[in-house]
Amino acid sequence: MKETYNKLTKRLYYIVMFIIIAIMISGLIIDNPRFAEFGVGYIAHCLLVLVFSICLLLYPKYETDVLRMGIIIVASVYFYTIFLLYPDTWSNFIFLCFIPAFSIMFFDSKLFYFSLFLNSAAILFLFGYIKVVDQGHQYPYIEQDLIGNLINFIGSQAIIYFIFYLSYGRIKRQQLYFEQIQQSERLKITGQLAAAVAHEIRNPLTVVKGYLQLFEQDTAYNSDDQKGHFSLMIDELNVAEEVISQFLSIAKPEKDKVTETVDVKVVLQSVTDLLHSYGLLHDNRIELNVAEDYYISANNIEIKQLLINIIKNAIEASKTGDVVLVTARMVNHFVEIKVIDHGSGMSEEEVASLGTPFYSLKSKGTGLGMMICFNIIEKYNGTIDFQTSKGHGTSVTICFPLSSKTIAKKGV
Ligand code: ADP
Ligand code: MG
Repeated sequence: MKETYNKLTKRLYYIVMFIIIAIMISGLIIDNPRFAEFGVGYIAHCLLVLVFSICLLLYPKYETDVLRMGIIIVASVYFYTIFLLYPDTWSNFIFLCFIPAFSIMFFDSKLFYFSLFLNSAAILFLFGYIKVVDQGHQYPYIEQDLIGNLINFIGSQAIIYFIFYLSYGRIKRQQLYFEQIQQSERLKITGQLAAAVAHEIRNPLTVVKGYLQLFEQDTAYNSDDQKGHFSLMIDELNVAEEVISQFLSIAKPEKDKVTETVDVKVVLQSVTDLLHSYGLLHDNRIELNVAEDYYISANNIEIKQLLINIIKNAIEASKTGDVVLVTARMVNHFVEIKVIDHGSGMSEEEVASLGTPFYSLKSKGTGLGMMICFNIIEKYNGTIDFQTSKGHGTSVTICFPLSSKTIAKKGV
């Protein structure tokens, strides 16, 4: 589907470009006042048509920033040149006003502002030239009402800016919406996968555990050594069962996971206490900074699970001896929890992959932590945001709506 769509848009692009090139060539040949003399100006015009056409035709193959910038610069030089070469064709002035519209095609805000700036600077030079050097000989329609023309030019740039602003905003929103759909699709697939896997593994585990419990009570295995082995095996199976239950919680939220009032300060304190010794493994310290009690409506265990995952990731990313900072504060009607580390950081692609099941860069990672986190955050209408750059650490910001208890207390 996407393939066909791409082919169609490419075909449409080439059809439009061939029409534009045909119009440019017809301007060179049909009734061109400089055609007969074949001077420097005419040759420059021919060369610019050639360069501009090549750039436009190459673009779908090499969609690079450099080529985009090249197209804008060549388009500007082309339109200003024909304006100067054919002063009698006053309508060339319209093209000058609409040069920045080219960059709207590329949906690149930096390029658009560059083009707007370039065009404004060029038009000021041009008007200066017409006023001082030309003195209205060739461009009387501009010179006689310079201010009026300038105001019209500014108006046209404002219209183009407005069109850009509206369409760019809409495209950005669509992009975000598309990413959210992809993310929830991922979660849905993982949920189904988790349910299937958990179901398949749970049954054999129950059977094995049942037999082990029987053997544990069997008088045939009497020595303490053997009993110890059995209870160890049963304990390990209990751990496996717990993991599976966690897995299942993604697909089907358990009935007992009731929504209650959770005190963020208390949860953060217990989570950091729990992870204290884990941090000490690599000499990492967790610093907690929460001034007040903030209450949110969620499930205590799930919020713990979420924070453990995030803080554990921060510790694992940190270098030996680094501090992981955990803070919570109130921002409007939300509690904002920040987990800041100065560790390995992530690239943009890595951040985009977070939440994908089994995505992990660690040798012993499961790649399930972030997926579970995203699930919990979505369940309680929270948001998560990553500020990170490779090699410079990560700051994870989680926001949850405050429960009416905090709001009533603080009177916000
Ligand atoms: P796991 O921890 O088992 O690898 P997660 O889903 O918790 O799985 O994390 C996925 C990956 O995201 C990690 O392997 C790591 O590469 C990256 N990541 C998560 N948090 C951080 C962080 N604070 N700093 C750097 N990388 C991180
Ligand atoms: Mg993890």
